[in-house]
Amino acid sequence: MTVTPAHLSALASRAEALADEVRALCDSAQIGSPERDPLVAAGQAANLLARGAEDLENAAADLARLQAQPCGLPWGICPEHGNTLSSTAGVSTCRVCRRTWNHDRRGRPCEEPVTWKVIDRAGTETRMCDGHVLGARAAAAGATFLRLDEGGA
Ligand SMILES: [Zn+2]
Ligand SMILES: [Zn+2]
Repeated sequence: MTVTPAHLSALASRAEALADEVRALCDSAQIGSPERDPLVAAGQAANLLARGAEDLENAAADLARLQAQPCGLPWGICPEHGNTLSSTAGVSTCRVCRRTWNHDRRGRPCEEPVTWKVIDRAGTETRMCDGHVLGARAAAAGATFLRLDEGGA
């Protein structure tokens, strides 16, 4: 199976929850009671669990960076609105949100992260970003659109 950042994040939040639980339990012991001493070790265990949660979060972030693939379709888009760019004199502008890029974004391969898998009626699979999927939805009748997240990669 493919390990996704979501798997690691889920484990991180469990480790964090466990750390909190141990801390709460230790705190509930009466100050001055004989139970306090053995609970010092339990408190240290809670710190280790919290450390582990942090390490897992870092690993999740590293993995997400590694797995982010650029869309790579040969023309740029507005990441939010799709095929809405006009390019004049080396500046690309989205006709919808008026966001501008100081280069001919439309004339360059797309660098947005891949977030969708599109399978056309012939069974050809293309991976693309949020912006490109907007255009594909309009153009590709009968295609299947699968969002890549939460382990769906
Ligand atoms: Zn836009
Ligand atoms: Zn794209």
